[in-house]
Amino acid sequence: MHIREGAGPPPPRHWPPVIRRRPPGESLPLWQAVPGRTLSFILRSGLQAAETHWTGERTVPCVGEGCGLCALQNPRWKGYLGAWSLQEIPGPRGPLPKGRCLVEVTGVARLNCPRLGLPGDALAGRRLSIFRRDLRRNAQVACRIFDDEPPPLPDKRPVDPRQGLMRLWTIGDGKVSPATLTELFDLWQQIPIEE
Ligand SMILES: [Zn+2]
Repeated sequence: MHIREGAGPPPPRHWPPVIRRRPPGESLPLWQAVPGRTLSFILRSGLQAAETHWTGERTVPCVGEGCGLCALQNPRWKGYLGAWSLQEIPGPRGPLPKGRCLVEVTGVARLNCPRLGLPGDALAGRRLSIFRRDLRRNAQVACRIFDDEPPPLPDKRPVDPRQGLMRLWTIGDGKVSPATLTELFDLWQQIPIEE
């Protein structure tokens, strides 16, 4: 490699800057639909949209312009809701407990359930179920919102999906800065949903 004199300092190794310290706030377990089981939640927020990539291990945010993962795959729409989990199950990274959590829904699930687009105060307190339409791991995700009286919970505080995603997506190599993610949250809410 030839380095031209006076070419200035090399570009930073990581961009956006790598955040090593977790932002303040609570860590919320992330629930996704599982095959062969219906999962139930009490909603605690409206829906936060996100453009994402699947790395083969986890879902990560698409940072838009300059996103390295966009060269490998198109970004996928995902929706995130703050909720209270009514069940506990084993998860790939330890048990997923009852209590405050994030719930992920797919674009298809969102399109088939228009009520998911209602504002947070219309959704909070409603019961949500999510499930896969057959037993395949990648089977289509569907959800339902119920109008029955939900069971009483010990904690009725809202659960902010942005705060939960901030904790998931802003620490370590290849992750985004809180400032960038805050901008992306607003942009993502504007984009049309694709299946
Ligand atoms: Zn991308």
